[in-house]
Amino acid sequence: MKVVVIGYGPGGVAAATAARAFDSNSEVIIYTGETIDAHQKPGASLALEYPNTKDLTIPEWSFKALTEKRIEVVSGVEVTSIDIANQTLSGQNAKGGKFDNSYDKLVLATGGLPSIPSLPGTELKGVYTIQNMADTTIIGSNLSTMKRVVVVGAGFSGLEVAERLLTMGKEVHMIVRSRLMRSQLEEPMSDELSSRLPESLVVHQGVSPGSVVGTSQATGITLNGETLEADAVLFMTGVKPNTRLAEQMGLEIGDLGGIKINKGMETSTPGIYAVGDCVEMYDTLTEQPVLLPIGSVAARAGRQAGVAAVGGKKIYEDTALRFQYDRIFGTDIVCVGNSSVTANSVGIETKVSYLEDSAEFSKVALVMDNDGRLIGGQVLTSRQGARLGYQILERVESGAVISERPLLEPRHKRMKDLIEQTLGPIQ
Ligand SMILES: Cc1cc2nc3c(=O)[nH]c(=O)nc-3n(C[C@H](O)[C@H](O)[C@H](O)COP(=O)(O)OP(=O)(O)OC[C@H]3O[C@@H](n4cnc5c(N)ncnc54)[C@H](O)[C@@H]3O)c2cc1C
Repeated sequence: MKVVVIGYGPGGVAAATAARAFDSNSEVIIYTGETIDAHQKPGASLALEYPNTKDLTIPEWSFKALTEKRIEVVSGVEVTSIDIANQTLSGQNAKGGKFDNSYDKLVLATGGLPSIPSLPGTELKGVYTIQNMADTTIIGSNLSTMKRVVVVGAGFSGLEVAERLLTMGKEVHMIVRSRLMRSQLEEPMSDELSSRLPESLVVHQGVSPGSVVGTSQATGITLNGETLEADAVLFMTGVKPNTRLAEQMGLEIGDLGGIKINKGMETSTPGIYAVGDCVEMYDTLTEQPVLLPIGSVAARAGRQAGVAAVGGKKIYEDTALRFQYDRIFGTDIVCVGNSSVTANSVGIETKVSYLEDSAEFSKVALVMDNDGRLIGGQVLTSRQGARLGYQILERVESGAVISERPLLEPRHKRMKDLIEQTLGPIQ
């Protein structure tokens, strides 16, 4: 069995390693445009501060580690076409050298493309986005020319990069269309997070940029008709599915713009799987298609595809469950499952309970559906947020097996008591 994976992000690596783990005889090959060892995506903005990217790589996913597992990694290439009828692919490297190959099973893990609003001026020099380490390197090489930087977008990655730039002594303005992390956090949680941002970060809330101004180089953006001068503008406004190859192959694309898959991550063509930011997942509650461009979802979907590609029949139930953790501006931010914004968008009404522990500087939102079932939660806390998040995850999974059952004690004793008063005992 020859399994070919296109993509070396969490989706692709998880697919390749699962295929290898479940079938030691299979031949597993990854094709990727990347030229350096895999790194955590938050590392992409960290690299502004720590340009030695070696420190930010994920050792178990390095080219060397995968080769030791007998997974071949063909890096620095673009797969340009796939012939489904003959089960072959072809592509080229950066110097134009051509290659081709065949496959028995194929996994597309081609990720996302930056979703930049279509405004005048976004093509100017000095307008950036961060999708991978190469993007960061370009920004890094121009940092000395940047005194004031505008970051558009207030999701995890926008906040991450704003923090980095502030640490490096830049004047940072953040443009927030509605509120911080609107789709992930309840409004009072957004407000809480806002109150924890440093005063040095200038937040322009409730506005959208009209255009990027400048002749060849960006010199600012317009907000409500006024120009905010800047040396660089970073659009951290999310991603859209990268379906270039899938469309060329004639795979079915969903209404949200992602590759359509079934629960086993198989596309409209049997034997071809797709995972990660390029697909439409199924919402855990409603089973409606949703876009979930999240590393942990990509990794779980990759595992599913890798197992299926080598003949495994198991369907993992937890694949689309969101779990995001980051530490930004000294606060652990954890988002689990649905927020009321994401739940409402798929027609689920919600009730939200809030718990606070001022001693631990913690605030937790528990999101329930109309039957009182926990469907998600959010944590803002000074420390050990992931542990609190896991307790919520466990509840949301409601009985599904998870390997970790960390205890909150001793540090989060009071929060544990508060959660238990609402949800029942935590074991
Ligand atoms: C700055 C930043 C911070 C983030 N922070 C977080 C976070 O804190 N938590 C979290 O859960 N998620 C985070 N994310 C999102 C997360 O990184 C993505 O959801 C995840 O990387 C998606 O994985 P993927 O496997 O689908 O694709 P990607 O990681 O995007 O990888 C796509 C791969 O496909 C390859 N590829 C595409 N087309 C071709 C082709 N034609 N030929 C060859 N190779 C091809 C690329 O070279 C690449 O290797 C962040 C993203 C960014 C950009």
